[in-house]
Amino acid sequence: MEIFPGYRITSPYGMRLDPITGVPSFHTGIDMVKFHRAPIFAFAAGEVVHAREGVTGSGFGGFGNVVAVKDERGALQCYAHLDSISVKVGQKIAEGLEIGKQGMTGRVTGSHLHYEVRKTSSPSYGFGTHTDPYQYLLELGEEEYKVTAEDAKKIIPFLSAAYEATNSKEARAEFNRLANEVRKVAGLPPE
Ligand SMILES: [Zn+2]
Repeated sequence: MEIFPGYRITSPYGMRLDPITGVPSFHTGIDMVKFHRAPIFAFAAGEVVHAREGVTGSGFGGFGNVVAVKDERGALQCYAHLDSISVKVGQKIAEGLEIGKQGMTGRVTGSHLHYEVRKTSSPSYGFGTHTDPYQYLLELGEEEYKVTAEDAKKIIPFLSAAYEATNSKEARAEFNRLANEVRKVAGLPPE
């Protein structure tokens, strides 16, 4: 699974030389590019808590037009320097919904998306609580796709049916192997 589909990463999270001042500083998000005014789709679901130009002192000064989405874990997903914004504060959004267009508003040298994740959403929209967005999304994705014991129990009959439906020795061995892995997750003994 690609974490940032369709983007070219232009500046990673971490220490770097500031592109405007040339002074070493910590980059609190990831810069990525599709093309100017490309649609930006939410990387995670949540509730929109900020959808306007970032005001100096608010926690979003210099970020230009910012959409911030509070996700299921209470972290803040921030999309900065947008050309335009297509969501409203209070709106509950799904992963993949368009939140705006790539732009060059605020303190920038060119059109790009600055994507930042903050562990908290207040005060000042969680300013200073930034974390590695790539790692964060990876963990969020793993949580989402974690198979529960209940899910596993539902999968076993399908694997048994697939086993019965084939005469291929290799396929049967593979279904057996899968079924035993699923049984492990479900807390059942292997067969
Ligand atoms: Zn940036």
